[in-house]
Amino acid sequence: MKLRKKQDSILLRIQAMADREKLLRENNQYFYNQPVSELRGAACALINGREMGMFASYSYLGLVGHPRINAAAQAAVERYGTGTHGVRFLAGTLDLHQELEETIADFKKTEASVTYSSGYVTNLTAISTLIQRGDIVISDKLNHASIVDGCRLSGAEFARFHHNDMKDLERLLKRSRSAKAKIVVADAVFSMDGDIIDLPALAALCRKYNAWLMIDEAHSVGVLGKTGRGIEEHFGLEGAVDIKMGTLSKTIPAAGGYIAGKKDMIDYLRHASRAYIFSAALTPAQAGAANEAFKVILDEPWRVEKLCDNASRFIRGLQQVGFETMLTETAIVPVLCGSDENAFAMTREAQNEDVFVLPVISPAVPQGLARLRATVTAAHESDDIDHAVKVLERAGKKIGLL
Ligand code: PMP
Repeated sequence: MKLRKKQDSILLRIQAMADREKLLRENNQYFYNQPVSELRGAACALINGREMGMFASYSYLGLVGHPRINAAAQAAVERYGTGTHGVRFLAGTLDLHQELEETIADFKKTEASVTYSSGYVTNLTAISTLIQRGDIVISDKLNHASIVDGCRLSGAEFARFHHNDMKDLERLLKRSRSAKAKIVVADAVFSMDGDIIDLPALAALCRKYNAWLMIDEAHSVGVLGKTGRGIEEHFGLEGAVDIKMGTLSKTIPAAGGYIAGKKDMIDYLRHASRAYIFSAALTPAQAGAANEAFKVILDEPWRVEKLCDNASRFIRGLQQVGFETMLTETAIVPVLCGSDENAFAMTREAQNEDVFVLPVISPAVPQGLARLRATVTAAHESDDIDHAVKVLERAGKKIGLL
C-alpha cells in the first residue's frame, strides 16, 4: 500500500469524522444509522428489537405498505423483473415509466414530466442542465442540499436570499439584470423548519423580473392543498411554478424524483440532462408503486385532511407544554433544543420511552438552533400524538429545557 503523508488532507478529514463519531458514541449521543428491522405502517417500527412510535418518517400520508401500492409494485416486478438494465435515453425506458410520467403530469396539472432515480439527483441534474455559465440562480438560504449542489454544479452565478425574505430576493433580482437567464429556486416546505415559502410574493417577483421559478415539493406533495397536490393548490395559484420538482421517496412510498412542467422543457431535459442519459432508469417496482400512489392520494382524500389535523394537534400540544416549534405549519415539527447536547439528551430520553425522534445539529442547522426534527403522519392516531407530547414534555423537564 502506498505510504501516505500524515498531513494528507483526506486522511485528516477521515480522522476528524472518526474522532467526532467516537466521542458521540462514548457519550451515548450517537443516534444515526440505526436499522429498522420492520415497518409496521408509518406510525410504528421495530428498532433495536423494540417497537417504537415512529416520529421521524416522511411517509406523510401513511401510504407505506398500502395494499394497492404493494400490489402495483409486485405486478411491475412480475412483468418487468427487478432492474431496468439501461439508462432512460437508451434501452432503460419502460412503458411503465411513461405511464408514471403522465400520472405525475396530471397530478401536477401540467403538460409533462420526467423522472429520475432519486430526488437528490433530480435537483442536481435539472438545475445544472437548465442554467449555465452567464446565467444566475437565486436560492433561498435554507434550501435543501441537493438544490445547493445543483446550483454549484451549474457554473452559473449562485446568489442566496435570506430565508423567505422577499425584499432580499428583490434586491438580488434587481442586481441581476445583465444575466442571460434567471432562475429563482426554493423549497415549498422547508425540510428542517416545516414552514412554507411565500409563493404569492415569490411568483409575483419572478414575473416582474422575468425569472423562471423552480419549487422543490419534496415535503409538500400530499401535505399541502385540499387534495394534496401541493403548494400551487394550497395558495390557489395553479400554473405559478415553471419547474415543479418533487420526490417519490416521501409521501410517495418509493424512491426517485421528477420534474413537471411545460412539454418543451421536459423534452429538453430528456435530451440534455446527464442523469437521464448516463444513469440507470427507475426500477420497475419503484415506478409501479409511485404510479399507483398518486392515484391513491386522489382516491383517499381523508388522508390529507387527517394529516393536517394531526400536524395541528402535534404542534399545538408541544406549544402548550412550552416547546418552541419555530414557524412550522406542516407535518415537519422542529422541537427547538438550543445546544447539540440538549438535542442529544432529548433524543435519548424520548427513545428510552420508545418514541423514535432524531436530533438535527450543526452544520445541518445553525449553531445554537439544534432541534428534534419530529414528523407526524396520517397513520398516527390522536392518542399516539398525545403520548409523544407527554414523553417529550417529561424529557424536556428532566433535562431542564422546560
Ligand atoms: N429536496 C428536499 C427538500 C428534500 O428534503 C430531499 C430529501 N431529504 C430531497 C430533495 C432529496 O430527495 P430524495 O431523498 O428522494 O433523494
